[in-house]
Amino acid sequence: MQVILDKLKNELKLSAAELRFLLETEDEAVPARIFREAYRIKLNRVGGKVFFRGIIEFSNRCAKDCFYCGIRKSNKKVVRFRMTEDEIVNTGHWAWRNRYGSIVLQGGEIESPEYAAFVERVITRLKTETGGGLGITLSLGEQTPEVYERWFKAGAHRYLLRIETSNEQLYRQLHPADHSFRRRLECLRTIRNIGYQTGTGVMIGLPGQTVDDMVNDLLFFEREDIDMLGMGPYIIHRDTPLAKLAGEFDREKQFQLGLKMIAAARIYLRDVNIAATTALQALNPEGRELGLQAGANIIMPNITAVAYRPAYQLYEGKPGLNESSGLCRDRLQNRIENIRETIGYDEWGDSKHFFSRTKAIRSE
Ligand code: SAH
Ligand code: SF4
Repeated sequence: MQVILDKLKNELKLSAAELRFLLETEDEAVPARIFREAYRIKLNRVGGKVFFRGIIEFSNRCAKDCFYCGIRKSNKKVVRFRMTEDEIVNTGHWAWRNRYGSIVLQGGEIESPEYAAFVERVITRLKTETGGGLGITLSLGEQTPEVYERWFKAGAHRYLLRIETSNEQLYRQLHPADHSFRRRLECLRTIRNIGYQTGTGVMIGLPGQTVDDMVNDLLFFEREDIDMLGMGPYIIHRDTPLAKLAGEFDREKQFQLGLKMIAAARIYLRDVNIAATTALQALNPEGRELGLQAGANIIMPNITAVAYRPAYQLYEGKPGLNESSGLCRDRLQNRIENIRETIGYDEWGDSKHFFSRTKAIRSE
C-alpha cells in the first residue's frame, strides 16, 4: 500500500496488479485511504465543483432484451410510454430555468426513421429555444453512424454508451445472441469520431464478473480514450433472467465495490468526468455524496415527471419515485453544501479530458 501511495503522490501510473490490489484487498483501512487519494487527485485535476445533468428518461420502449434490465422488451409487466415532444422540451426548459446547465436524454433503444426524426426535433428545439445555452447529452443506445451524425448536427454534444463489461465473453452471457459486443464497440468509436464528448461505463459486481474483469474495464477506458464515465453497481430486477442467476445479493458489498471502482477510475484516468450514479443512491441514501467524495464530479438528478418514473425501473429500488424535481434539487443542494463542494450552476462542466485529447489531435 505504501508503494501505491508513494506512486500517487508523485502522479505515477499504477500497474494493473496495483489496481487489482485496490479493488480486492480485504484490509479495512485501505478504502478510506484510496478515497482520500482519489479525492485529492479530483481536486487537482478537475476541481471541487459538481456539475448537474438533469436526466429525462423519456421513453421505456426498447427493442432490446438485455438479461439484467427491468425494461427489456420481454418484460410484459411494464406499461410502455413515450413522452411527447412538448413534454420533453418543457422538462428541458425546467432544467434550464433551474440553472442545470445540461440535460441527459435517456431511453430504451429504438432504431427507426420516425424515432431518429423525433429525437432530432427535440434536440433542435431545446437548442434554439435556449439560445444554444442548454448542454445536451444523449443516452439512446446503438444507432447507425448517420443517426449519430444527425443528432450531433442538431446540437447534442455528449453521448453515453456503456460497454456494460469489457469482457466480450461475459457480455455474451448477459445478452441474447443477437446483441453484439462488436457493434457496441463500433458505435462507441463512431460516436467519438463524430466529435461527441464520449462516455462509457460498466456495471459493477455483475454475476460472473471477476476483479480482473474490472481491472480490464479500467484499462479499456484508457485504451478507448474516453472522456466521461458512468458506472454503477449492478442491482437485481426480479422480472429479469439475470435475477435468477444472481444468487445472494449483498447490497453493502456491491455499494463498496461501486465506490472503489469510482476511486480507482479517478486515480487511473485523472481528468475525465465521472458520475456518481443513481444506482449508488439506490443502495445507500448518501450514495451520491459518498461517490463525490470517492472521486466523482457529476450528478444526474432525475427531472422526469413523477408520473412516468414507476414505468422506468431498470433495477429494483430505484430512488426518487415520489420526489418532485424541485424537491430533489433543493435536497441535493443542501447535501452537496454539507460536504463542502459547490455546484457548477449554469455551466456545462465539460470533460477536461476531451479538451486535452482534441487539442492533442489538432496540434498533430
Ligand atoms: N437503452 C440505453 C440507455 C438506457 S439503459 C442503453 O442501454 O444504452 C442505461 C443503463 O442502465 C445501461 O447502460 C445499464 O448499464 C444500466 N442498467 C440496466 N439494468 C441495470 C441493472 N439491473 N442494474 C444496474 N444498472 C442497470
Ligand atoms: Fe433496453 Fe438499455 Fe435496458 Fe438494454 S439496458 S434492455 S438497451 S433500456
